[in-house]
Amino acid sequence: MTEEKMIEEIKRLKQEKNAVILAHNYEIGDIQDIADFVGDSLGLSQVAAKTDADTIVFCGVHFMAETASIISPDKKVLIPDLEAGCSLADSIKYDDLVKWKAENPGAVVVSYVNTTAEIKSLTDYCCTSSNAVKVVEAIPEEKEILFLPDRFLGSYVKAMTGRDIKIWQGGCHVHEKIGDINFDKAHDEHPNADFLIHPECGCSTSCMLKSTMYEDCGNINIYSTKGMMKHVEESEANEFVIATEVGILHRMKKMRPDASFYPISEDSVCEYMKMITIEKLYNSLKYDRFEVKVPKELAERARLPIQRMLEIV
Ligand code: SF4
Repeated sequence: MTEEKMIEEIKRLKQEKNAVILAHNYEIGDIQDIADFVGDSLGLSQVAAKTDADTIVFCGVHFMAETASIISPDKKVLIPDLEAGCSLADSIKYDDLVKWKAENPGAVVVSYVNTTAEIKSLTDYCCTSSNAVKVVEAIPEEKEILFLPDRFLGSYVKAMTGRDIKIWQGGCHVHEKIGDINFDKAHDEHPNADFLIHPECGCSTSCMLKSTMYEDCGNINIYSTKGMMKHVEESEANEFVIATEVGILHRMKKMRPDASFYPISEDSVCEYMKMITIEKLYNSLKYDRFEVKVPKELAERARLPIQRMLEIV
């Protein structure tokens, strides 16, 4: 079957099964174009929590489909490729967190949403890069905080809030790669551009450090993916250098066809996100594959920190 025919079939099957297609900003352009909603983890979780659809097809990575299943246990949640994982979610295991909590009794656990259901079940608050600072600010000041798994986002939140935060030394391989980029060189090549940096990127913490030392950091803005989109929409600049996964440039170009966008590195690619193709999406809808279902007891324990995350936006 041709890709065109598959796209037609996806649209038909979506109606037939009362399904909704959610796609993360880092998915390939074809998937973003056919999705009902495109966004970051928080935005997609909010849609998953409210949708009337019977089936949610999650074009993203496994923990996202798991999160949707936890929030909407009565819906069928599908992921077109079960192998679509996340190096950041894999950077902390259940036993690691059990041990860390035991070493820090009374501490409040804040987990970035990029974690497995098992980790969420040991968590007090989930957050995304859009609301991590707000989530930490909502915790009573006298409380010690354990932040996991991303060390760059954790350092950013610690610097922004000035709170007593212990940070798990995990990371995402895509954003870690960005940390190796010669940031000053990119600034010389695009002196008039707005620089938009995701707080998970290794370069964001060094930039923050530079700013606090009153050095020239150029027109640098540290944003969640949602914040980046808003900045692009509202900015008068015509050039943007983007430091996060390259998939987001597709949406940005659609939003601002008059502007030029440069990834800070062409290598900033999440192989997991790119695993979802039109053919896999078609097979997913046609054959109900692959269903992601979190066991009831685990889902109940993991739901509260997600609900708290959804309430603090
Ligand atoms: S970009 Fe990094 S954090 Fe995001 S899904 Fe890929 S591996 Fe996980």
